[in-house]
Amino acid sequence: MSEISTSERVYNFSAGPSTLPLPVLEKAAKEMTNYRGSGMSVMEMSHRSKEFARIIELAEQDLRDLMKIPDSYKVLFLQGGAYLQFSMVPINLFRNSKKADYIITGSWAKKAAQEAAKLGQVNIVASSEPDTFTYIPEWKKEDFTADADYFYITYNNTIYGTRYTSLPDVGDVPLVADLSSMILSEELDITKFGLVFAGAQKNIGPAGLTIVIIREDLIGHAPSDTPSMLNYKTHADAGSLFNTPPCYSIYMAGLTFQWIKEQGGVAAMQKKNEEKAALLYNAIDESSLFRCPVAKKDRSLMNVVFVTGDKALDKKFIAEAKEHGLVNLGGHRSVGGMRASIYNAMPYEGVEALVDFMKKFEKQNG
Ligand SMILES: *Cc1c(COP(=O)(O)O)cnc(C)c1O
Repeated sequence: MSEISTSERVYNFSAGPSTLPLPVLEKAAKEMTNYRGSGMSVMEMSHRSKEFARIIELAEQDLRDLMKIPDSYKVLFLQGGAYLQFSMVPINLFRNSKKADYIITGSWAKKAAQEAAKLGQVNIVASSEPDTFTYIPEWKKEDFTADADYFYITYNNTIYGTRYTSLPDVGDVPLVADLSSMILSEELDITKFGLVFAGAQKNIGPAGLTIVIIREDLIGHAPSDTPSMLNYKTHADAGSLFNTPPCYSIYMAGLTFQWIKEQGGVAAMQKKNEEKAALLYNAIDESSLFRCPVAKKDRSLMNVVFVTGDKALDKKFIAEAKEHGLVNLGGHRSVGGMRASIYNAMPYEGVEALVDFMKKFEKQNG
């Protein structure tokens, strides 16, 4: 095992954990046994060491640069996945009325609302559940709770393939968004949000790291009996080094941030993502075999959902695609069909290869 072999890498359309940029993996491989002359791997390094301090500081700075995060926001590197944020958000943000508004656009939004309902009063402003989440529902301002402690959305719906293209006008109520499957994929005005979070394993790096970006005035309101680990203040005060953070995942995230900078930043990523998504959606819309169940205006740039309408044929497609090096195209176990996750790290060529295969498959099976 003296050489790094990349010849048998596939195009991996997994929704998460998902494909990472090859240059990031190669750099990590090079630095695996001896990180920049330290004589050890990042995995073996004290989280209090000078080397690691540099890694986490640079990762934070690069993320701040990429997302244009103002100084009035804290960036936290946490664990527990996006799922833990479904609880940490209400624990920390239910600070006055203990009421919150939620828009239900899929399973993740629903689960987040269920967790919050254990701690306060959840008002469902809108839901597309009756139509199996095939669009982002319209919201009416008169359904918003005036004294809500926060307003919650799932920005990109990984399972159903929808995304917001405009945000609810929530006034002074802090807007909270789960960015797990779209962070760094398109430009976002962070000042429109009170808090955003994302698990790293979709668009950033390995699992184990969850990024929280929170406006400073929202920190420090958790009840005094809140366990330390569940209080944003603990992590904000300690610079995400209250206890051992997910060091290696933070290092990998840092490499991805640098790679995005080299690509030209988030605006450049967005342009590429729009091109990739257009290529795939056009192929689906022009096809007489495949169709996309998602409303055109709400289609995700990251998770492209499509079906043939015949479950056996879907299965055949997924199996044959795999033989062509196009893997993990099965839809979420709750919805079936196909889903191609085309995150930042998926090259345009990967989407081209998929579209070529779809055309071939249609000729043989259409
Ligand atoms: C994957 C995902 C989650 C769950 O993430 P975990 O890190 O597994 O807890 C939550 N929300 C969205 C939008 C996701 O895509």
